[in-house]
Amino acid sequence: MKIHLLGVNGPFPESGGATSGYLLEHRDTLIQFDFGSGILGRLTAKVAPESLQAIFLSHWHFDHMADLPVLMYRLQSSGTVLPVFAPEDRSSPLFQLISSAPNFRLTLLKPGDVLSFGDLSVHVGSARHPVPAVGFRISGPGGDWGYTGDTNTHPDLCDFYRGVRLLIADGPFLSDSWDENKPHLSGALAASLARDAGCDQLILSHLSPVVPSEALLREARTVFRQVSLARAGDVLSL
Ligand SMILES: [Zn+2]
Ligand SMILES: [Zn+2]
Repeated sequence: MKIHLLGVNGPFPESGGATSGYLLEHRDTLIQFDFGSGILGRLTAKVAPESLQAIFLSHWHFDHMADLPVLMYRLQSSGTVLPVFAPEDRSSPLFQLISSAPNFRLTLLKPGDVLSFGDLSVHVGSARHPVPAVGFRISGPGGDWGYTGDTNTHPDLCDFYRGVRLLIADGPFLSDSWDENKPHLSGALAASLARDAGCDQLILSHLSPVVPSEALLREARTVFRQVSLARAGDVLSL
C-alpha cells in the first residue's frame, strides 16, 4: 500500500498548498480520502481521477471536499460516474449538490460500516466535530493505517485506531490554544492517542498556516517519539 499525501493543510492552504487529500494506491486499487482545495490538480498529476474506485469524505467542510464540484465538471465531459462515500449532512449545500449530481453515486456512511475493495477494507469510525464526521481505518496486506478526519477527543478513538502501523491525525492546535469545545485535537493530544493506541508512527496533519509547525511538533514529541509533520508530496509505504 502507498499513501500519497496530496494536501495536508486546513482549514485553508498555505502558499502553494492544498487542504486535506490522501490517495491510497494498492496494486490496481485507487481510493481517495477527502478532496479538499487544490487536490484535483495534484491527483491528476498522479492518476486519472476516472480510475478511482471510490472517494471517501470524512465530512462536508469545504477544506475536505471543495474540489469535488470542480471534479464534477471533468466527469461531465468524460461521462464517468464515481462512487462517493460520506456521512449524511443535509445542512451542507454541497451535500445537496453532490448527492443529486448524476456523475457521483453517493453512499452514506456511519461508524461501524466496513467497505471492501479486493483485499483492502475500509472501516468507518467515530469523530467529534461540529458537523457529522467520521474517521477511517484501512486494513490491507501490509497492515493497517488510520486517518482521523477532523476530530476533537472522543472515547472511541483509542480502540478504533488500536495497533495501526501509521496514523494520520488531525492535530493542528498548540496545547495552550486547545480546549474541549474546539473542532480539532492538539498536536499533543494526537500524540497521546497514537501512544495509547499503540500506533507505530504518527503523522500530524491538517496543518494550519498560522500555527508554527515546529512548536507543534515539539509539543507532540514530548508525548510520543515517533511523530512527524505531514508534508505534501510525501508517499508513505505500508
Ligand atoms: Zn478541516
Ligand atoms: Zn472540519
